[in-house]
Amino acid sequence: MITRSPLSLQCSTTAGSWQTQLSGAIRDPRELCRRLGLEKRWWPGAETGHALFEVRVPEAYLARIRPGDPHDPLLRQVLPLDEESHSTPGFVTDPLEEREHTPRRGLIHKYAGRVLLIASPACAINCRYCFRRHFPYDENAPSRAQWADTLDYLRGDASIREAILSGGDPLAANDRQLGWLVEQLEAIPHLKRLRIHTRLPVVIPDRIDGALLDWLGRTRLQKVVVLHINHPNEIDEAVIDACRRLRDAGVTLLNQSVLLAGINDDVDTLTALSERLFEADVLPYYLHVLDPVDGAAHFEIDDDTARTLVDAMRRELPGFLMPTLVREIPGEASKTPI
Ligand code: SF4
Repeated sequence: MITRSPLSLQCSTTAGSWQTQLSGAIRDPRELCRRLGLEKRWWPGAETGHALFEVRVPEAYLARIRPGDPHDPLLRQVLPLDEESHSTPGFVTDPLEEREHTPRRGLIHKYAGRVLLIASPACAINCRYCFRRHFPYDENAPSRAQWADTLDYLRGDASIREAILSGGDPLAANDRQLGWLVEQLEAIPHLKRLRIHTRLPVVIPDRIDGALLDWLGRTRLQKVVVLHINHPNEIDEAVIDACRRLRDAGVTLLNQSVLLAGINDDVDTLTALSERLFEADVLPYYLHVLDPVDGAAHFEIDDDTARTLVDAMRRELPGFLMPTLVREIPGEASKTPI
């Protein structure tokens, strides 16, 4: 039984397998380069990018990267580069204008019927293309009193049917705290669904342990976990096992990807990703074009190329394995199909 505790949702550093992996992630760009046998010419750029957005790579993810290959598609997602210091017109620190939609600290209310809660400011991995790489988490980590305020907001708006736990990565918070939050949410009668956006089952599959499955399996809320996987090489047997444990707990599993230059911008990779997701019982949901966040312009794919790729995928895949190509436009009432 999970202890009820109205604590602020901070990242846990207590002992335990996933916690140890989380706290033991590589956070030094030179160590990342050394461990993967990258030539020294990569080091200065890695330090430049790291100064803008720190490097963070857990060992379980590192193990899936080919040593000595600076173009490995998993490495490219986490290796800081000098290009991140180049400013590009149109690329900004808050591309989705989320700061306009935070009626309570740690709560983003952009779309009808659902709200997003920043359940943890921490991530297990720092993805170089992240649209929240400049997000002011310090200003949005709710205290105990502020969680009460946030929950009051949800209680007071009967149109809200879905609570989305986001971050950071919400599963970087510990299970006692998450269990407490979910109990508060399920006590709100008009809430029907709990959605969790997370990369933790992918980057540290051991995160899907008995303590997590306890609170997740018990809630009356319908449960959806949206994974963030961009390349089929990210899905190893441990990830497939973690997905199976989630599915056995009654979770609907979806995936969203970002279309990234040099990582997954070819038909074979995208097709293989959909096939591999289905082997893990995960359905492709969205394929996002890059949000124009400052520091990530080198990942951008233009819309015509994106459409061409998706048209080619459609010729290879059944409809249920086709993600919807979308862009998020600030102020729009939903994601916009491209
Ligand atoms: S919020 Fe998601 S995409 Fe951004 S750094 Fe964290 S895990 Fe990566």
